[in-house]
Amino acid sequence: MKYKRVLVKFSGEALSGDSGFGIDVNVLQYIANEIKTLRDNDIEVGIVIGGGNIIRGVSAAQGGIIRRTSGDYMGMLATVINAVAMQEALEHSGIDVRVQSALEIKEICESYIYRRAIRHLEKGRVVIFGAGTGNPFFTTDSAATLRAVEIGADVIIKATKVDGVYDKDPHKFADAKMLDSLSYDEALRDHIKVMDDTAIALAKDNKLPILVCNMFKKGNLVNLLKYNEGVCSIVH
Ligand code: UDP
Repeated sequence: MKYKRVLVKFSGEALSGDSGFGIDVNVLQYIANEIKTLRDNDIEVGIVIGGGNIIRGVSAAQGGIIRRTSGDYMGMLATVINAVAMQEALEHSGIDVRVQSALEIKEICESYIYRRAIRHLEKGRVVIFGAGTGNPFFTTDSAATLRAVEIGADVIIKATKVDGVYDKDPHKFADAKMLDSLSYDEALRDHIKVMDDTAIALAKDNKLPILVCNMFKKGNLVNLLKYNEGVCSIVH
């Protein structure tokens, strides 16, 4: 098997299903089942979930009443809500799981302690990293890359609704071509939309491959990670 330990990142919006807001429990359970297939194949899994289905700092600050910093902390709290929901769904699927938060919320979850996170992973528990990096002005893409590097993940998986990275927006251009593989420098130069530049730069500095794939094709994650089969783009 190619990958022993992975970090899966998906956006908060992925959890909201068609409504675009909140948490759709059917989608939540679908994703939990996809994660379970990884655990069933002995792949150690860390997860970072965004918070965009609830609130994003930039949007919250748009009216000029909420300051960006407060908005960002609200966004980080949103990621903890999503993490707790995913914890429930994974446990419902019979998976051992812990949530670790970058902000201390001790009644609800553990605080992020990297050595403890690694121990959980070694014991076969899924670890969901909540509250992003714990700092405003960052995104959960950057948080996911940071945690992936810290836990020594072999790859970060950016799980999306599309098959990979395209040379232009596939929703707007019929002739958009998917790229199987691209370098970090190409990803930075072209500002590919799947991950922000801070995250890509951090991955580049640490030689962490980024695998972009569609999480909504059943079995795709495990096929890619275990059998090297399926459609994805790799930034490396
Ligand atoms: N956020 C932050 N610092 C972090 C991670 C997240 O301030 O390290 C805030 C930021 O406001 C962001 C929000 O949390 O907009 C939700 O995260 P993100 O937008 O990355 O979620 P996604 O788009 O993946 O759902």
